[in-house]
Amino acid sequence: MKFDIITIFPKILDSYFSESILNRAQLKKLITIKAHNLRDFTLDKHRKVDDSPYGGGPGMVLKADVIDRAIAKIKLKNKKIKSRIILFSLRGKKFDSKVAKRLSKYDQLIFICGRYEGVDERVAKYIADEEVSIGDFVLSGGELAAGVVIDAVSRFIPGVLGKLESLEEIKGSYKVYTKPEVIKIAGKKRIVPKVLLSGNHKKIEEWRNEI
Ligand code: SAH
Repeated sequence: MKFDIITIFPKILDSYFSESILNRAQLKKLITIKAHNLRDFTLDKHRKVDDSPYGGGPGMVLKADVIDRAIAKIKLKNKKIKSRIILFSLRGKKFDSKVAKRLSKYDQLIFICGRYEGVDERVAKYIADEEVSIGDFVLSGGELAAGVVIDAVSRFIPGVLGKLESLEEIKGSYKVYTKPEVIKIAGKKRIVPKVLLSGNHKKIEEWRNEI
C-alpha cells in the first residue's frame, strides 16, 4: 500500500510515522508513506498555493489547479493499480472502522489535506473520489486526519500487526490491568479485579465480554 499525502506542511507527521507499528510496517515494505509539498506543484515564482475566496469572506482557499497538477504527478499510472483520491473535508463521510477496512483494499491512497478556509470545491467535484471527515470537530488542517486514516487503515493490511495487537483486533476493546497487583493511588489501595488473577480463562473471557 502506498500512502501519498498532499499538504503544505509535509514534515508535520514525520515523527509519528517513524515510531512503533507504522515504522515497522515501512521497514518491512508493507506500506510506504510519502508527504508531498503542494508548493512543489506551483508554476509561478511566488509558489502560490492559495487565493482569496470568490464572493468574499475571510480566509484563503487552496487552489484546485495546483492540486490537479500534484495528482497528475503522484497518481500511479499502471492500470492494474487501484488508486483512491481522498479529500479531507468537514462535509465528508464520517470515518470509521468499516471505511478503514474498505480503504485497506486499495494499492494507493492519495490524501488531499485542506488548510485555512478549505479547498476550491472543484477538487471535491472533479478530482477526489470521496470526501472524508474524521469527526464533528474542526481541525486546523487535514494532516492529522491523514495520520488517523493511515494508522487505522494500515492495521487492516496483512502483516502490519504483530501477534499481540492482532489478538486485540479480533476481540475488540476491553479493560486491561498490569503489574503490580496492588498499588496506592492518592493513599488508597487499588487492586486488580480478582477474576483476572483466577487463571480461569472461561471466566476471564466472560468478564471481558461483559464490559
Ligand atoms: N471553514 C472551513 C474549515 C476548514 S478547516 C469549512 O467549514 O470547511 C481546514 C481543513 O482542515 C479542511 O479543509 C479539511 O481538509 C481539514 N479538516 C478540518 N476538520 C476536519 C475533520 N474533522 N476531518 C477531516 N478533515 C478536517
